[in-house]
Amino acid sequence: MNTTDSLRIFCYKNNRVFIDRCIHNHNSYHTSINRSTATTTYKMDETEKRELLERYNAIKSKITDPNVTLVAVSKTKPSFMIRELYENGHRHFGENYIQELELKSKELEDLKDIKWHFIGSVQSNKIKQLGSVLNLAVVETVEKSSAADKFAKCFSNHSQPLEIMVQVNTSGEQSKSGCEPNEVVDIVKHIISDEQCKKSLKFSGLMTIGSPNATEDQPDFKKLFECRDSISKQLGLPIESIALSMGMSHDFVEAIKFGSTSVRVGSAIFGERDYSKK
Ligand SMILES: *Cc1c(COP(=O)(O)O)cnc(C)c1O
Repeated sequence: MNTTDSLRIFCYKNNRVFIDRCIHNHNSYHTSINRSTATTTYKMDETEKRELLERYNAIKSKITDPNVTLVAVSKTKPSFMIRELYENGHRHFGENYIQELELKSKELEDLKDIKWHFIGSVQSNKIKQLGSVLNLAVVETVEKSSAADKFAKCFSNHSQPLEIMVQVNTSGEQSKSGCEPNEVVDIVKHIISDEQCKKSLKFSGLMTIGSPNATEDQPDFKKLFECRDSISKQLGLPIESIALSMGMSHDFVEAIKFGSTSVRVGSAIFGERDYSKK
């Protein structure tokens, strides 16, 4: 065995231990909210920190346009990793599961400027629960006017309006959430004109999850781009006021080429997710 091989095995094992430890800590979230402080007090060792920051900086270096927001998708990953990136200056984090977001937002409530993005599917009976998430800044996954109404109600006593993005199903896959492209103008119109919505919500953009096997011409990204044009024209909103949230670990560079202003990157920053132990 040569040096490269043994180094590779070492790295592999080390990473494995690290991931296992993260999952172990993560699982304690689900056991008890009170016990979960263990996840915040856990300290990453220097190697783990360095590796996380290296991955993060590698992603940052690929985003040269200052108008593009990087949302670090931290689902299934423990709070101490989020804290580490926050201390390194990062602010936008994305989560998919309400319970997990509730818990992490409590564990990290001392991080005053953190901006949580909810990017999971919105079930109307869980909207109220999101109302109690500290520092929830953006919900990216609204796909119906009725969901917007519920958010407006739950957030009416908040000092800051809640940012709302409308999720569009650009690929037409049955399994994907999001409204149809031809419904998006009406939904946005509702959000910006309904009295209750106007008071507590701020429409901030469109979001899509592209097809994982997209062709080079990126029809999903193009479609979202076109949706923004229609909204801007038909509702008189300036293009720059409408963010486009598209692009993940495997395609965020492409997405930016196609006009993305907000990329949601998870595994390329935090490492692969492992759901097997849940
Ligand atoms: C998990 C998730 C991401 C991040 O995915 P990666 O491939 O890990 O970058 C982005 N957007 C949504 C909606 C997600 O659920």
